[in-house]
Amino acid sequence: MVILETINLGKIYGKKETAVNALKDVNLKINKGEFVAVVGPSGSGKSTFLHLIGGLERPSNGTIKVDGKDICCLSDKELAKYRRQEVGFVFQQYNLIPVLNVKENIELPLKLDNKKVDEDYINDLMDLLGLSERKNHLPNQLSGGQQQRVAIARALSAKPSIILADEPTGNLDTKTTEEVMELLKMSIKKYNQTLIMITHNVNIAKKADRAISIVDGKLSTSENKNSL
Ligand code: ADP
Ligand code: MG
Repeated sequence: MVILETINLGKIYGKKETAVNALKDVNLKINKGEFVAVVGPSGSGKSTFLHLIGGLERPSNGTIKVDGKDICCLSDKELAKYRRQEVGFVFQQYNLIPVLNVKENIELPLKLDNKKVDEDYINDLMDLLGLSERKNHLPNQLSGGQQQRVAIARALSAKPSIILADEPTGNLDTKTTEEVMELLKMSIKKYNQTLIMITHNVNIAKKADRAISIVDGKLSTSENKNSL
């Protein structure tokens, strides 16, 4: 089942002589439960692509369908709701709130959305991500890997159908990277989520169901992972 479809998706930043054609005519279908790695050189449009499908920015051209619904026509308010409820973001910077403890950081998206906290689910998440014994710690009392796991739990707390990750292991050592990847894969399997992850790490791209490559704002044909 297709969860996400982009049709002729494009983004131009700026106007006239300063215009940057960051993304051009991207046509892509991604299935529910799929893990797609996005690779490509720096400045090629990977983050732009993620921001568009996550509703952080609006496209200049084309359409984005999520679960068959066009998100490009949503009002600002509806788009904010889409971001809060349908997608979970994980960035290279963990962006945790320093004065909130682990559990409070994880629950923040639900609180912002006036949602009741499903304690069992949040406890399950913390167990899955190995954070239960750290739930009362503040971010500065955690290692980088632990902070990234909190950021992942926060991204999952609203039970999004799509997880968008922009180089989430970029600041982590090899061992922690592997752990974080295993945990992400485990949680998307358990909760039947779709994961779209930008990465420079060839080993991660090889673990994905599919790797797509964006070069100069254009989608190259889907990569054969063995050629990465
Ligand atoms: P990547 O994530 O692959 O490194 P980006 O999507 O961040 O690439 O950027 C693609 C191109 O768009 C680059 O040339 C970048 O400078 C430009 N760009 C990205 N965001 C903006 C912005 N907000 N305003 C202007 N140009 C931007
Ligand atoms: Mg980027």
